[in-house]
Amino acid sequence: MIPVNEPVVGAAERAYVQECLETGWVSSAGRFIDEFETAWASYCGTRHGVAVANGTVALELAVWALDLEPGSEIIMPTFTIVSCALAATRNGCVPVLVDADPETWCMDAGAIEARITERTRAIMPVHIYGHPVDMDPVRDIARRHGLVVIEDAAEAHGATYRGTRCGGLGDLSCFSFYANKIVTTGEGGMVLTDDDALAARLRSGRNLCFRDDRRFWHTEDGFNFRLTNLQAALGLGQVERIDELVARKRAVGARYTAGLSGLPLQLPVEREWAENVYWMYGVVADEDSGITAADLAGRLAERGVQTRPFFTGMHEQPVFLERGLFAGERYPVAERLARQGLYLPSGLALSDEQQAEVIAAVHEALGA
Ligand SMILES: *Cc1c(COP(=O)(O)O)cnc(C)c1O
Repeated sequence: MIPVNEPVVGAAERAYVQECLETGWVSSAGRFIDEFETAWASYCGTRHGVAVANGTVALELAVWALDLEPGSEIIMPTFTIVSCALAATRNGCVPVLVDADPETWCMDAGAIEARITERTRAIMPVHIYGHPVDMDPVRDIARRHGLVVIEDAAEAHGATYRGTRCGGLGDLSCFSFYANKIVTTGEGGMVLTDDDALAARLRSGRNLCFRDDRRFWHTEDGFNFRLTNLQAALGLGQVERIDELVARKRAVGARYTAGLSGLPLQLPVEREWAENVYWMYGVVADEDSGITAADLAGRLAERGVQTRPFFTGMHEQPVFLERGLFAGERYPVAERLARQGLYLPSGLALSDEQQAEVIAAVHEALGA
């Protein structure tokens, strides 16, 4: 089976991890945490990076840092991972959804304004599968309505929007470094910001809100969301060769696009204002071909190709419907993507030969 994703551990990472083991700096103190934070923040063009245990808590901590009153609303795409909606609900906030753009699969910026109420406090754009959200309209709406932008760039390491790197486009920007992300620390995440006060609050919240002035004295409830030096060592080695990782992802993307055009499939786009990093190469089966993503996944599995289904929208998730959220809401684009979309093997370990096999398998599976 050709796997959907496998990380590649390079020589620098091995040496850095080895250094942690030999020096005993295996916990959440040590040089690699600072260096990883500084390297990633600087790559993304922001002043502060606060490393955390994973991408889900990066989002939760970012919302927490804003200290919003209960019932505050955060506008986000329905077509995303559950972590985004949980970041709102875990902080007493309400996720308010918009549909996806049919071509970029990112949140439809044109649908945001209609969802603003007097309780709206933030917008959470998510760059889906490596393609940036159209951020100018999002930031313009945020400026006009006094809203905070919390960018989820977990799937867009190295992607750019009008020349600015994803991760540098929000008031707060969140990353995951899970094993399938472009830069991985196994489990890990980071929140980036240019705001000194927010950065200090993120650092405090990450570490149980210990105070500097009195040991074991707490005036706020924090979290243990710390990353370890071992994990940061792994991350730093990859940040040092990020250009190579991104170039490889883009080459795999270009090769799929060339090899799969002309089939009854909708392929990823790259808007003229975007640089897509093809974190995962998604395809959406045409309804006219009479097959769903589940059918296509089955046919590809028979041919030794692993795939993953697209997201199911937040408005279809029992965990939220049971609480009375999103009752009766419909988002046709996201529903179509969930039914017809899947992604192909896209990992950094995918060889050219394997990719050629995947392309041939897709042709066969579609009877072409
Ligand atoms: C992976 C991912 C997350 C969650 O990150 P974890 O590290 O798995 O908790 C959040 N948002 C998006 C868009 C992701 O792809």
